Amino acid sequence: MAKSHGIKALIIEDEPAQLELLSYNLEKEGYRIFAASDGEEGLLIAKEELPDFIILDWMLPKLSGIEVCRQLKRGKQTREIPLMMLTARGEENDRVRGLDIGADDYMVKPYSVAEFLARVRAMIRRSKAAVVGQIIEYKDISLDPERFKVTRAGQVIKLGPTEFRLLSLFMSKPERVWSRDQLLERVWEHDLDIDFRTIDVHIGRLRKALSLKGKPDPIRTVRSAGYSLDVEN
Ligand code: CA
Repeated sequence: MAKSHGIKALIIEDEPAQLELLSYNLEKEGYRIFAASDGEEGLLIAKEELPDFIILDWMLPKLSGIEVCRQLKRGKQTREIPLMMLTARGEENDRVRGLDIGADDYMVKPYSVAEFLARVRAMIRRSKAAVVGQIIEYKDISLDPERFKVTRAGQVIKLGPTEFRLLSLFMSKPERVWSRDQLLERVWEHDLDIDFRTIDVHIGRLRKALSLKGKPDPIRTVRSAGYSLDVEN
């Protein structure tokens, strides 16, 4: 068994076999495990323990996974906790819905344990990087918050301050869809002079700056929902 590094994991999962599998594998990696078998209990433990990350099942008794996620992402103390949703369903709609309400990653059962653990590590790395100002990477894009520097495929990308803040937010949660309201809150801090049209203009500038010849457009426009950073390979 790996030595504990004190990183706290909360697993919210009602199926005992699944819970055991997740606990076993995460414990082996040195994580300290907290477990809840329904949504209400999960929410309670999350608020009490403030874990470093949360694994959340979609279908749960008492409070659904989606509702738990929504409440966690609304809570001041819990909103920054990285959260991975697990589901038996494979619908693209569910994935988008999960990411849209703030889940940081999403996996469909059955999944490979190795991939699961790798994605947990990536999720923790991203959230830590965002906190201490380390370089964040997503696919071929890298962002250095301290040096205010962005590269794509090794090429330096020049960005204005607003585009830089937008990209930082996108990079903290790749593939998550952000509504214009959410962008307004996080990037412009509710500046009353900003309207949705202005947001679209800055998104357009960011998209243009990141568009390199032969590389896919990294900004996905989701009709009537918003935008996400999503490089399809
Ligand atoms: Ca379940």
